[in-house]
Amino acid sequence: MRTDYCGDLRAADIGRLVAVCGWVARRREHGEHLAFIDVRDRSGLVQCVVDGAHDLRSEYVVRVTGAVRQRPEGTANPGLPTGEIELGPCEVEILSVAEPPPFQIDERVEVDETIRLRYRYLDLRAERMQRNLRVRATVNSALRRAMEAQGFTEVETPMLIASTPEGARDFVVPSRLSPGSFYALPQSPQLFKQLCMVGGVDRYYQIARCLRDEDLRADRQFEFMQLDAEASFVTQAEVLAFISEAVAEAAEAVTGERPAEVPVMTWREAQERFGSDKPDVRFAMELTELTDVFAQTGFNAFKAECVKGIRVPGAGDLGRNKLDSLTDQAKRWGAKGLVWMRVEPGDTATGLALNSPVAKFLSDEEQAGIVVALGAEAGDLALIVADERPPVNHVLGLLRLELGRPPVNQGGFNFLWVVDFPLFESIDEQGRPISAHHPFTMPHVEDWALLDSTDPQDLLAIRSQAYDLVLNGWELGSGSVRIHRSDIQSRIFGLLGISPAEAQAKFGFLLDAFRYGAPPHAGFAFGIDRLAALLAGEENIREVIAFPKTQSGADPLTSAPSPLDPTQLAELGLRVLPRTT
Ligand code: ASP
Repeated sequence: MRTDYCGDLRAADIGRLVAVCGWVARRREHGEHLAFIDVRDRSGLVQCVVDGAHDLRSEYVVRVTGAVRQRPEGTANPGLPTGEIELGPCEVEILSVAEPPPFQIDERVEVDETIRLRYRYLDLRAERMQRNLRVRATVNSALRRAMEAQGFTEVETPMLIASTPEGARDFVVPSRLSPGSFYALPQSPQLFKQLCMVGGVDRYYQIARCLRDEDLRADRQFEFMQLDAEASFVTQAEVLAFISEAVAEAAEAVTGERPAEVPVMTWREAQERFGSDKPDVRFAMELTELTDVFAQTGFNAFKAECVKGIRVPGAGDLGRNKLDSLTDQAKRWGAKGLVWMRVEPGDTATGLALNSPVAKFLSDEEQAGIVVALGAEAGDLALIVADERPPVNHVLGLLRLELGRPPVNQGGFNFLWVVDFPLFESIDEQGRPISAHHPFTMPHVEDWALLDSTDPQDLLAIRSQAYDLVLNGWELGSGSVRIHRSDIQSRIFGLLGISPAEAQAKFGFLLDAFRYGAPPHAGFAFGIDRLAALLAGEENIREVIAFPKTQSGADPLTSAPSPLDPTQLAELGLRVLPRTT
């Protein structure tokens, strides 16, 4: 039906007779008998000069034939790729009429997101969505290319399974053939990819759909796509290299530029310098140790295990209201308090003085110590928190993001590996450690002895061979070297309070498989929605998903989730109880 896409036509096509197909994006009258219409397809817009008698309204579907010609002197539009040319005179064929759309497609005016999702097929016509879908497709094909070039075989794993151990709530599917029994939808292909290793696949990958029933956020949907990978007879360093190659290939395919080699940072260093296990390293404002400065302090609030601060360049002019609200914020995040200090020129040894309600409680040496340690300059703001080390890092890390984080599309693409995660993230009320990753994660060889300790602090100090990939402060994904030895696995299950019977019931098939010769193996998975969103410069993964759910988990387009009819319920042996709230 067509010879060209609308957005591809250029001055070089002048004189050609072309046919384009698409939607009427805009109509403007041109004198008495003529009209301009902009025709839109997935590639962009082209202006067509048509007979004014045609009844052509927004979103009518048309086929237009005409000659490409130069726009008259002074009417070119440099803001539009096709702005130098137009089609005319044109023949128009109406292929489909359209009702007026519920929102203007080409202008992302403040349309309520529910409306956009209700009419997602209209929203998808917009250039931004077309571009985002293409970015995503480019990412997928680059990932496949990179994994295959590195010897990985794509294996599909089932969607109707028994539960997986990622720690979120499962979505479940009732079984008609075994009423009262349920499948779980996979939170990840974790157990199957490990079975593939026992099965000799050696290098597995999959672009896998994962489902987790968690509260939705800007970077989280119920269902999401992962690049999931697992390899046998490899070390952690090799896994990092495989995945670094895949993301570099994807980033290069989208941006045209290959990102720098991905740096590696330990979890501990990330906590100390950035107060986060997913540091946004696009900007500095690092956490600075001040504990020694206050070793002898007379100021009670600073008599703490740990005192640290950040320097916010040029923020010395923040008003009292803002400073008070930051202090409240810091307390909500778990700080006992927040000390702020405006850095000003002063008659001191450093040439700088601290203007703060608490300055009078600090000695001259202490004040100078702050200035020197932070590298502060006149006009800066210093923020200081004192407490135990973990809350100090946590709160300053959040303040750092709050005050310094650049918009998503600035600062380039800063991938980072965070390694040596702790094996356990905390200890529960019954004194049991809680896994930081999943229970198949191999502890660091040097820390194996600590597994036998009864001191909770020793358990929390055990490092694991687990690693995360971070991009601009977003956690893209996680992975680990797996436990392939049953003695270590039993030890871990024991510590986690998973009894042999429970382990057998939950993961028995994996443990059985391991009895028949399990190769050492390791793997990784990262979120493709997140990678695609960041590469497309989007803050929200919904912008790179064709048909996402709203924040409340609903789909306004199809009305999912919706009640089942009584016959379906009966067939499944289910009865819906009245809601108790
Ligand atoms: N299955 C894990 C996850 O989805 C990743 C991995 O350990 O490979 O987080």
